[in-house]
Amino acid sequence: MTEQNKKINRRDFIKQMTGGLTGVAAGFIGLNGDAKTRRLLANTTKMIGKNKRPWWVKEVDEPTIEIDWDRLQRFNFSKTAQGGGFEKYVGETEYRRLQLIEENNEYQRIQENIPGYSLRDHAFGSAHSGLSNKRSFLGAQSAPTPEERGTEKWVGTPKEATRMLRSVMRHFGAGTVGIVEINEKTKKLIYSHDPDGRAIIFEDVEKAYEDSEKRVIPNTAKWIIVYTVQMSLEALKRSPTVIAQQTTNLSYNRGSYIQSATQNFLHGLGYQGLGEATLNGLGISPALGVMAGLGEMSRLNRMITPEYGPMVRVFKMITDLPLQPDKPIDAGIMDFCKTCKKCAEACPPAALSIEDEPTWEVEGPWSNFGHKAFFEDSIKCRTYWKEKPGTNCGICFAVCPYSKDNKVWMHSWAQGFVSKFPFLNKYFRNLDDAFSYGAMKSVEEWWDLDLPEYGINTERVVED
Ligand code: SF4
Ligand code: SF4
Repeated sequence: MTEQNKKINRRDFIKQMTGGLTGVAAGFIGLNGDAKTRRLLANTTKMIGKNKRPWWVKEVDEPTIEIDWDRLQRFNFSKTAQGGGFEKYVGETEYRRLQLIEENNEYQRIQENIPGYSLRDHAFGSAHSGLSNKRSFLGAQSAPTPEERGTEKWVGTPKEATRMLRSVMRHFGAGTVGIVEINEKTKKLIYSHDPDGRAIIFEDVEKAYEDSEKRVIPNTAKWIIVYTVQMSLEALKRSPTVIAQQTTNLSYNRGSYIQSATQNFLHGLGYQGLGEATLNGLGISPALGVMAGLGEMSRLNRMITPEYGPMVRVFKMITDLPLQPDKPIDAGIMDFCKTCKKCAEACPPAALSIEDEPTWEVEGPWSNFGHKAFFEDSIKCRTYWKEKPGTNCGICFAVCPYSKDNKVWMHSWAQGFVSKFPFLNKYFRNLDDAFSYGAMKSVEEWWDLDLPEYGINTERVVED
């Protein structure tokens, strides 16, 4: 085959594909009704204050991963590989060796002005260091309460409250917002201990409080608000550089701001908003996101959303304002992961599972038992971070076929097919390869881009 023939012409490929799939497409349209029906459904969804979703996302009673709720127990954050956990698992000597490599690499690369690791890249990456946007369990509580305004607390139905909260949080910068009701099952997704070692306890008290040993959640605070914050695809397509890492730092800061403002909003209504006291605290983000219907678990062992793919950070808080819970979703994402494997193939230290099916067996003590997943080797992943790029890598997120701009028609169309016809999954994985969608972008070029705010596309397109 000549080089010329090997290069696939995008238009010809689409022509071939659409020709080959005409029959399927006809059935597909039939299955989903005409455009008018879909528009009507979208409007109905909007009226009841739910996330306005792409048409191929359906609500289900159980998430698309199996959970053994009896076996699942509340997890102690200190067992995860984040922060101090990694040091504990590799041992002090190995950790010091890796630290030294990371520091030397950073110094050398700055001296040599290596693109993506130069001084300007590092200055950019550290731009949020030490800024005062602090997370807090109880929130600032600095907005006037209804009492201080001489009035009663806000009252509305759970549906009205949820619609109000979604509007407010999207205004503050959240991508999607979902609700989980706390019951004996979902309570197990709240950490037993926060990252700073304090126990998280549920008690029959009126007001939440904290001391040096524990954080106490009133049993009347029964609703978990889970929300996503978009990361920049333009930045992450420069993985594993410092530019790519910057979007993680920025979204954590934005998530923290949204939390603080929402806590104050709830306080102003006369309710409690109990947030993450420390980075990634309070509860298991991907699991809560899945229960809130924000996305599905994936081969990344992270949540993938229909709207933004894996390009999000996930945050949560708890409130006593009665809200309307959401249901998990099935958008064909977990099914697609079973054949795709693109992230696992691209991972330099082979830290992601390459198996065909998820398993109950965890890779190490940093993962929680009691659910079926594509468990990752977090030690391999984090060792690579320190030994090679000195960043949080992100290659697996960047190559994922779901890491796309939602407005690309091929993408939305393909996602629709994937959700309805799993036997086409391999075909769409190959299509993604053919168009080099997973390819990384030029690091130097990033500095001259005319980027939108936060480097993200906030326009949400829902198919009619
Ligand atoms: S972040 Fe990098 S090293 Fe870790 S799993 Fe993803 S690709 Fe692999
Ligand atoms: S790259 Fe493929 S296998 Fe990996 S998370 Fe994305 S869709 Fe799933």
